Amino acid sequence: MIRHSSNISGIFRFGRCVASRLDIKDKWRIEVDSAARALKTIRAIGGTQESSDNPISVALNTSSVLVLIEPEWISFDMTLWGPKGLRHHCDGTSIISPKGKQGNPCGCPSTFTERKKRAKLGTGPQVNTVILFNLAAAPEIGLFRFQSPSWRFAESIPGFRSELPETQGSTFCELSIQPIEFTSSQDRKVTYLAPEIRIVGRDKE
Ligand SMILES: [Zn+2]
Repeated sequence: MIRHSSNISGIFRFGRCVASRLDIKDKWRIEVDSAARALKTIRAIGGTQESSDNPISVALNTSSVLVLIEPEWISFDMTLWGPKGLRHHCDGTSIISPKGKQGNPCGCPSTFTERKKRAKLGTGPQVNTVILFNLAAAPEIGLFRFQSPSWRFAESIPGFRSELPETQGSTFCELSIQPIEFTSSQDRKVTYLAPEIRIVGRDKE
């Protein structure tokens, strides 16, 4: 579920559409809603302002950003769309919507491997992970949001979340873009970029 959407100061991305083609870089790019926030972000973590339109796009010089996260700022859901709209909306085990059926078992497989297989066939829902965070270097800028359809990222979230302390404020984490190498079925080495989140320490509160 996507929450807090009205309080978001900026959005993190590592790809964008250029002339209808997806251009993926190994550096973060952010979009903010004001020139003042763009300037504060560049001062705090570096970067170059790429546009002055709203939202203002800022290219960061880095693939790794230190952020502050609280457990309730992480959300995850799975959706399957059909010609008549949303066909399946769950958290992997329970229905999220329609509201009348909320909390009922959704019937999805318990493992990510099986869920991914069904999603690829178009018979099961796709994952969507949303994390909100503050920049560790400038938390006063406000909440940033990163949304990912990556199965690898979604699969890492339950373990990551269970390691976050439930109380006593936020945790220092590193949000990065990692090159992932694998060998394809044709025995070719393939590299792709994927987001990664890991804990680096506790906030001193
Ligand atoms: Zn489901």
